[in-house]
Amino acid sequence: MSTEETHDLMIIGSGPAAHTAAIYAARAELKPVLYEGFMAAGVAAGGQLTTTTDVENFPGFPEGIMGPELMDRMRAQSLRFGTVIHTETVQELDLSERPFRFKADGRSGTAKAVIIATGATAKRLYLPGTGEGELWQRGISACAVCDGALPMFRDKPMAVIGGGDSAMEEATFLTKYGSKVYIIHRRDELRASKIMQQRALDNPKIEFVWSHTLKEAKGEGVLQEIVIESTKDGSQKTLEVSGLFFAIGHVPNTQFLGDQLDTDEEGYLVTKPDSTQTNVAGVFACGDVQDKKWRQAITAAGTGCMAALEAEHFLS
Ligand code: FAD
Ligand code: NDP
Repeated sequence: MSTEETHDLMIIGSGPAAHTAAIYAARAELKPVLYEGFMAAGVAAGGQLTTTTDVENFPGFPEGIMGPELMDRMRAQSLRFGTVIHTETVQELDLSERPFRFKADGRSGTAKAVIIATGATAKRLYLPGTGEGELWQRGISACAVCDGALPMFRDKPMAVIGGGDSAMEEATFLTKYGSKVYIIHRRDELRASKIMQQRALDNPKIEFVWSHTLKEAKGEGVLQEIVIESTKDGSQKTLEVSGLFFAIGHVPNTQFLGDQLDTDEEGYLVTKPDSTQTNVAGVFACGDVQDKKWRQAITAAGTGCMAALEAEHFLS
């Protein structure tokens, strides 16, 4: 049976954006209620950082901190100031009436203002060898900026899959650590902007493998080689690599919103310039769900802070 609730401020999400918003809102006595999700978007409550190990670039932790521990600490800080947290996924949000109506796993009700911080999910390729319990996070990752500096990749060959700006940027970044970086792209033309393409094309440590797709990842405990296939003639070849990074785009977690809020062509929520305000007054969006460019814990936290301050202004 569903419990009926009335919230002033509802926060949806559980990553750095949601918890920063909660900390600010709770300290402003807005009595935030945070729905952290129950395996929402295929990720445990706590968001993307629960899927990684060392986080070395979040200020305040000079020795680094494990992703799940960082998220536990943020959650504890939200609770400390009085945030109410429900481990439920929000299934529906109806913005056509005020207060807004929501339906979660075991609760439904209304909220006067809503902060959406549901993040984005990096697309992965599910092929033999790439899954959890296989070589995922044992040489295979979807975030070069996060994992590229790990000792296991030092002076070793690596591969990036994709032909967009992310692939160019990640491959260029990885050349700081690896002996060489292959960019494997399914076509013979890049989608990336000219300047990013040129930077990668000019980098002597990057080798383009055109018109190929990944077929399989192999290795004993850690990634050792990948099998790729030509999209032109179907021929296969093997590349020895210690790292494999997917840079094939992200999907923002906005499915539960339908088409009620303005999005860009890829589904990211659009907010007003220098603001987290969406096209519906009282609905704010922060973190990766509205940021396809920076996608870092600290930038998500920054916009989470903005959302709480803007929600406070709205509610007053
Ligand atoms: P997310 O972290 O994406 O969290 C959103 C969460 O909200 C979801 O995961 C889910 O639990 C919840 N949710 C979704 N939908 C619903 C719903 N309908 N109802 C309720 N809850 C819902 N960044 C760094 O700065 N440093 C790093 O070292 C680093 N390492 C990374 C390693 C990996 C493997 C990955 C994938 C990312 C890494 N990042 C790193 C990027 C960083 O994790 C993200 O930029 C950041 O987590 C985005 O935070 P967020 O708050 O927007 O959302
Ligand atoms: P994009 O969607 O631009 O590119 C994704 C790439 O992955 C494409 O080349 C696509 O191939 C390829 N791809 C997609 N699916 C598959 C698949 N199943 N198998 C193999 N390859 C696949 O995503 P990005 O993350 O690169 O960029 C997203 C947005 O962020 C863009 O607007 C980009 O400009 C921006 N960005 C900007 C940066 C900057 O300015 N510094 C840095 C990073 C991103 P195909 O081309 O054949 O479709």
